[in-house]
Amino acid sequence: INILGIETSCDETSAAVLRNGCELLSHIISSQIKTHQKYGGVVPEVASREHILHLQSVVEQALQEAKMGFGDLAGIAVTYGPGLVGSLLVGVAGAKAMAYGAGIPLLGVNHLEGHIYANFLHNPGLKFPLLALLVSGGHSHLVYFEGHGKYQVLGQTRDDAAGEALDKVARTLGLGYPGGPYIQKAALEGNPHAYEFPRAMLEPGSLDFSFSGVKSAVLNTLNSARMKGETVNVADVAASFQEAIVDVLVRKTLLALARTKAPTLVLAGGVAANTLLRERLTEATQKRGIAFSYPPPILCTDNGAMIATAGYYRYLDKDYAPWNLNAIPGLNLA
Ligand code: ATP
Ligand code: MG
Ligand code: FE
Repeated sequence: INILGIETSCDETSAAVLRNGCELLSHIISSQIKTHQKYGGVVPEVASREHILHLQSVVEQALQEAKMGFGDLAGIAVTYGPGLVGSLLVGVAGAKAMAYGAGIPLLGVNHLEGHIYANFLHNPGLKFPLLALLVSGGHSHLVYFEGHGKYQVLGQTRDDAAGEALDKVARTLGLGYPGGPYIQKAALEGNPHAYEFPRAMLEPGSLDFSFSGVKSAVLNTLNSARMKGETVNVADVAASFQEAIVDVLVRKTLLALARTKAPTLVLAGGVAANTLLRERLTEATQKRGIAFSYPPPILCTDNGAMIATAGYYRYLDKDYAPWNLNAIPGLNLA
């Protein structure tokens, strides 16, 4: 069963061909980072135009590398939300046309489910129930899965996502976009205890997150140093900030694991590429005898392979999308 996965929700145009849910035959990612870097963030109108320019050649490359034509595919999976509406529309319209033309099913994939399903690509033997920590540019969710497509959101951010906070602080520090990898790199040289930034735990027992407080605390530290004419040690700020974010993510995840008694944890989303977060969760799950899975960095940030993987399980369920599938920019996890 060969599934073509297409992802265009933000600033990556990506396509992948996946065989039987676990064998990646090709994976093309055309990133627009360079285009948006000079603005310090993604410019939506520019992003959709870039997708229009690149979608067709990215799909052609993916099919070519997999040595396939449309006739060899069982279905085409595409992200239909959440994301930027113009970007999503390019992928959805393209996938519809290709699937209709090839006479094969269209599979509509929730981008957030896609992030989590990146774990099944590497680890098709993952057993339910499992807990997922999804931390990306726009979302921070703890989700309990009982089976494929059967899940419950236990907690989510009430304001900024973890990735969003990392990106905003990195921009103020003048480190570059997207911020997560730059903060990680700067933190290597810094002292994580130089600053005690706040950890928002919210009400006792809450599995929700809040990262706007720690973000503001860092920005205030930088602003008041600037006003006093003092220089800050960027590495120390980055290390202390990363420490605060990872600390909260790990504590809440352990709380959710204790509450659900889930024997397995999976990590997903762009922030899942963070080395400190991976190390801390590895350590904590080992101590508790919990199985822990995380995708390689390239499958953490946006990519077509994760969409193909989620699409594969939809295909097995015969959960095909209607031909009037629309982009839903505010789509969440049900
Ligand atoms: P969403 O998936 O919520 O719609 P998105 O698709 O924009 O948002 P992703 O591509 O999943 O987000 O992730 C991008 C985020 O991951 C950015 O905020 C980026 O800074 C962060 N990120 C990437 N690599 C790392 C890293 N090594 N450490 C920390 N954060 C990282
Ligand atoms: Mg991106
Ligand atoms: Fe994403």
